[in-house]
Amino acid sequence: MQLPFIDLAAQQARIRSALDQSFAKILDEGKYIGGPEVIELEKQLAEFCGVKHCLSCANGTDAIQLALMAFGVKAGDAVFVPAFTFAATAEVAPLVGATPVFVDVFSDTFNMDPESLKRAIAHARELGLNPACVIPVDLFGLPADYDALLPIARENGLKVIGDSAQGWGGVYKGRVTGSLCDVSTTSFFPAKPLGCYGDGGAIFTDDDELARVIDSLRVHGQGTHKYINERVGLNSRLDTLQAAVLLQKMTIYRDELEERNKIAQRYNQGLGAHFTVPLVPEGLTSIWAQYTIITKSSAERDAVQARAAEAKIPTAIYYPIPLHQQLAYKDYPCDPAGLPVSEDLSGRVISLPMHPYLSAQVQDRIIEAVIG
Ligand SMILES: *Cc1c(COP(=O)(O)O)cnc(C)c1O
Repeated sequence: MQLPFIDLAAQQARIRSALDQSFAKILDEGKYIGGPEVIELEKQLAEFCGVKHCLSCANGTDAIQLALMAFGVKAGDAVFVPAFTFAATAEVAPLVGATPVFVDVFSDTFNMDPESLKRAIAHARELGLNPACVIPVDLFGLPADYDALLPIARENGLKVIGDSAQGWGGVYKGRVTGSLCDVSTTSFFPAKPLGCYGDGGAIFTDDDELARVIDSLRVHGQGTHKYINERVGLNSRLDTLQAAVLLQKMTIYRDELEERNKIAQRYNQGLGAHFTVPLVPEGLTSIWAQYTIITKSSAERDAVQARAAEAKIPTAIYYPIPLHQQLAYKDYPCDPAGLPVSEDLSGRVISLPMHPYLSAQVQDRIIEAVIG
């Protein structure tokens, strides 16, 4: 029997009867958009990460785009993004007319390298671009190096959008991701650690004015009345059914994050002597959206993947091609020193099944197959 990469069925069994009840309530009430569940969810999410405002929206990509729009990022502006991330992080820059500029990552945490960011900012200026915004990503669940990145952003007048699509709820030196940047965003895509049963996303900020603008932008730029338009916006709302799913998932989220951590520790113990296992720096907590090891070569990765497949164990490669080498993004600027770490990692990383319902027994089977 093929193992699931992420076992959403086991999770659903745990919350199914409560879900059935809340779906029935929503069907009875008929408030499919903007129902009370949406408001309650926003309140709980804001509390969880300790921020003043949570604004839910249609997906994690819109969440970043809405933040860029609220900051007024536009043509001629440079938006600094890691080259080793999901395309959505970079995609939003050209969508608002701005230029993504690719930054390299650390080889041990997979997150944005501050020295590379500095070089990319200088390079953007040489190209006549206005450095406007940086989007660090909490890749695979680990918070980015905010103590190093935020001062560089401040010195250069950059707004900071934390892309916590994979890392929402992680801890950076006592603070929860979502609360560390001018604006943070997350995604509720089903496979994310906090996922709904469709698309969804959210934006977090302590800034009242910014929250007001984003609230308008997510509903067609509406003003005080539905048919007053103050700005050009999007149609980007989280619907009531998805909010109800997320409310149920929030009741088990802390517990699931603990389980994910235990599972990561067991992988580390089993695999640490054979592969480079993920580093979690002192003072940080990952939410383990992915458990990603680094093999010694692409050939070794191919062998690991083949052995796992043979044992009916799914694996995934996040990400096989760094963004600056993708057809859609290859003409945008990069750190002038190149992006050697992103390129190297793309050839050697492999992610293993990771979810809170992985038993020790199954995990040991995975470890055995991966080691070979
Ligand atoms: C999933 C993801 C997004 C986008 O989220 P969607 O809800 O799929 O739009 C953005 N950034 C990163 C790093 C992601 O993993």
